[in-house]
Amino acid sequence: MSIEDLARANVRALTPYQSARRLGGNGDVWLNANEFPLPVPFELSQQTLNRYPECQPKQVIERYAAYAGVTPEQVLVSRGADEGIELLMRAFCEPGKDAILFCPPTYGMYSVSAETIGIEYRTVPALENWQLNLPAIAEQLDGVKVVYLCSPNNPTGNLINQDDIRQLLAMTAGKALVVADEAYIEFCPDATLAGWLQAFPHLVILRTLSKAFALAGLRCGFTLANKPVIDLLMKVIAPYPLATPVADVAGQALSEQGIALMRQHVAELNANRAWLCEQLPPLGVVQQVFPSETNYILARFSDSPKVFKTLWDQGIILRDQNKNPGLAGCLRISIGTRKECERLIAALQALSLEQA
Ligand SMILES: *Cc1c(COP(=O)(O)O)cnc(C)c1O
Repeated sequence: MSIEDLARANVRALTPYQSARRLGGNGDVWLNANEFPLPVPFELSQQTLNRYPECQPKQVIERYAAYAGVTPEQVLVSRGADEGIELLMRAFCEPGKDAILFCPPTYGMYSVSAETIGIEYRTVPALENWQLNLPAIAEQLDGVKVVYLCSPNNPTGNLINQDDIRQLLAMTAGKALVVADEAYIEFCPDATLAGWLQAFPHLVILRTLSKAFALAGLRCGFTLANKPVIDLLMKVIAPYPLATPVADVAGQALSEQGIALMRQHVAELNANRAWLCEQLPPLGVVQQVFPSETNYILARFSDSPKVFKTLWDQGIILRDQNKNPGLAGCLRISIGTRKECERLIAALQALSLEQA
């Protein structure tokens, strides 16, 4: 038997997540992973690397709870929000029996985690306006234990209507969890569902330090839910998920100054996004710019492979969305510094002139 044959069948069949990092590229303007464009400063203060870390570092949990407006017992910290996505499946879904459900086009890790663990995933395509197709979801709920929503949605940038989420919570009560992935909520903080946790025992919210907090390299994310859900996730999480330096830096990011700096960065990126939303539509190669509540913009181009390749060759790396359902001709552009936005527009202007 070959090593390949020894592996689980679903792992052999698995297409791993095509992260921006794996896709590579030789850029100097990285607009493909929704990262913050500049590093934030920090200093390591913990010298006790001979000791195992706390499983759930108290200071990080307390600071995140205060920041999110929930109680510490409603917070779990993990290796990025991605680990939260997977822990929920591992705690709530029986492989070969239960299913998860999500609504494409959306974030790619829901299906990748389900495939890795061996859980069926059902997709109910979003409506043309990228809102939930509630009647179609209602028909597909049999055997579903977790419904993943992404709001604001990656890669489309829109929020999911709160009335629709309320209806979804009503139809799943006592049957399934509803997980709201709020990875980008800092760019539209009023839209958070954190205040709903008290009313809904089956609501779960995912958060991360990777986007607005400018710490994608730290690998630190949060799951917000009521205690019974958190207690179950605590059963399946690794004994020491967060390295001591990670907890150290996360604690600093969640200090008063850290949060103030994040808010200042968000204001800058939101201003750059507004500028891009003015600059993009008049360009000849741009067909449509979708409104966004996030640090990225989805746009449809007349010849997106050519735009993608031409910019790639100039070191400006965007994210191709052609293969995402309903997104033919679309590229996702992360909001960078103002200089990076200007370079992007200059390159697209040159392409538009060439085409005219
Ligand atoms: C980036 C992203 C994540 C992953 O966040 P990490 O904390 O870096 O694992 C989760 N969900 C969505 C929608 C994202 O865009």
